[in-house]
Amino acid sequence: MVHTYNDFQQDQPRFKFGVLALQGAFQEHIHILQNISQVSSAIPIRKAEQLETVDALIIPGGESTTMALIAERSGLMDPLRKFVRSGKPTWGTCAGMILLASEANKVKKGGQDLIGGLNITVNRNQFGSQIDSFESLLHIKHITTSSDDLFPAIFIRAPIISSINSSSVEVLAQLEHDVGETNTPLIVAVRQGSLLGTAFHPELTNDDRIHKYFVQLTQDHYNTEKGRNK
Ligand code: GLN
Repeated sequence: MVHTYNDFQQDQPRFKFGVLALQGAFQEHIHILQNISQVSSAIPIRKAEQLETVDALIIPGGESTTMALIAERSGLMDPLRKFVRSGKPTWGTCAGMILLASEANKVKKGGQDLIGGLNITVNRNQFGSQIDSFESLLHIKHITTSSDDLFPAIFIRAPIISSINSSSVEVLAQLEHDVGETNTPLIVAVRQGSLLGTAFHPELTNDDRIHKYFVQLTQDHYNTEKGRNK
């Protein structure tokens, strides 16, 4: 039988993605995901029942304290923790990465509720109010291949990863940043198994390479699971 391109497309496993849609930049993620061929659908998540239907999740940027508060009120905090603990692929961008972290510094008085799962400590609002947003071209492991194709990373009141708390966390990107006299590279993207964290906002660019990478991680995750269940 002669296969057409469409047959191959249909043969590919396709996955359902959710984007936490309580607050922040969720629509942009949905839009990018919808244009990736291995994505069967991308839906906004506002309720625990919706979370149960998806294979992978993005927690977007916005305001981590507000998002945690709304998630708590909507009864989503525990289902989100369960989702991440079960090993399902989850990617946090900016405020989303703060929520995915196991520890956060510079949190509001009274602390901050986190989803956790990603073994890192983050510093919220690392760049202060003077430079609260900027763009930087980054080399990202597994994603950019040479200095000609760096990733345009947009940082908005961004956190950074101040420490890596497990050897299973892989550093994907660092930002050269002048602090006083010294130039200290700051960690701004990590991966731990099927969990991904980026301090910046890839959904605000028209570069979909990190989204495609996350879809690939999802595919790899379910392929491995299938192998295990055989
Ligand atoms: N500063 C925000 C927070 O702490 C994150 C900002 C963002 O997501 N762009 O939640």
